[in-house]
Amino acid sequence: MRITVLRERRPGERRVAVVPELVPKLTEAGFEVAVEPDAGAELHASDDDYRAAGAYVGDDAIDNAKVVLSVQPPDLAHVRHLPEGTVTVSFLPTIQELPLVRILRDRKVTTFSMDLIPRTSRAQSMDALSSQALVAGYRCAIVAAERLPRFFPLFMTAAGTVRPASVLVLGAGVAGLQAIATAKRLGAMVEAYDVREASAEEIRSLGAKFVELPLEALGGTGGYAREMTEERAAKQRELLTPYVANADALITTAAVPGRPAPLLVTAAMVNGMKPGSVVVDLAAEQGSNVEGSKPGEELNVNGVTIWGGRNVPSQMPLPASRLYAQNVVNFLLLMLKEGNVEIDFDDDVIAGSCVTHAGEVRHHLTQDQLG
Ligand code: NAD
Repeated sequence: MRITVLRERRPGERRVAVVPELVPKLTEAGFEVAVEPDAGAELHASDDDYRAAGAYVGDDAIDNAKVVLSVQPPDLAHVRHLPEGTVTVSFLPTIQELPLVRILRDRKVTTFSMDLIPRTSRAQSMDALSSQALVAGYRCAIVAAERLPRFFPLFMTAAGTVRPASVLVLGAGVAGLQAIATAKRLGAMVEAYDVREASAEEIRSLGAKFVELPLEALGGTGGYAREMTEERAAKQRELLTPYVANADALITTAAVPGRPAPLLVTAAMVNGMKPGSVVVDLAAEQGSNVEGSKPGEELNVNGVTIWGGRNVPSQMPLPASRLYAQNVVNFLLLMLKEGNVEIDFDDDVIAGSCVTHAGEVRHHLTQDQLG
């Protein structure tokens, strides 16, 4: 039975769903692994590396595939030719991909979305949102350090003392915490804020200072944040203004599941920053935490650099692919039994991440959107 790894086709996507070193995990489980040519080119994994790992590489890799793996959702062109009962596994932000979901449903493809893996202890090894957020958070800190025209660490030299950079991180989920940890490792003075109650302890455990604001915490279900009212959002921005003005580098990573990213920093707040400061907005693609930031663009606004993230994990394709591949393989191994795919909907990880199966949309939120 064939498992096919697609070459990514969406512009800017540099990751691959399975790296060569993980091919044996699937072949040893009794499956043939077929890979499209150049699938790993962006991370310098050659076709020969895949062949040496035991995969078949060819333009016809998708023919007779039972399981199709990718990072981005498969192309419409591919999906239209998938036989009934094929299984696909990829990121699939269903609300943004409704036309594709309709076709997957109508072709009776079984579709799993890595965005929907439940965030439970059991599913941690399959949690691709977390693994990719880790890469993104690290990258944000590195981008800030690289763009800032000064040192991150303290230097005490014969020529005098250089004070460390002040870094402010807003939003301390998986990405924010990784940005904090990385900025700390580089020696910056780091402060951070998040609306979740548990975040104060998480931030402090990394050696950063938690910014205490006289506002209620906003914990929602499953450890996620709730959306703010406009009144609270305005108050939060007002209270954060002096912290933003004081920061040499500001990194924003705030998100609320299923909603556009909250606006945490207005253009006026950016204007209050010192010339030469840097703003890194990881949420630029989800609606922006920072007014004026644009995904994939680096702007200079009155001397302040504003860097808007776009597919940030893909900017580090090797570690991002390795982690994603491990997540995908761990997920697949739940279903691969004796050389076959067995889909057990009593398993909460399998049931929770399934979007379409046997001609139906199983994910309730997506079902509601499709009407
Ligand atoms: P996310 O990407 O949805 O959001 C990023 C952060 O933005 C969150 O910490 C959120 O609280 C924060 N935020 C939202 N609105 C904000 C605002 N107005 N101001 C400041 N910050 C704001 O979150 P995530 O990184 O995916 O993780 C969120 C939660 O999920 C955390 O509690 C994390 O510990 C938990 N989690 C659990 C597991 C697991 O149990 N397996 C795995 C991953 C994450």
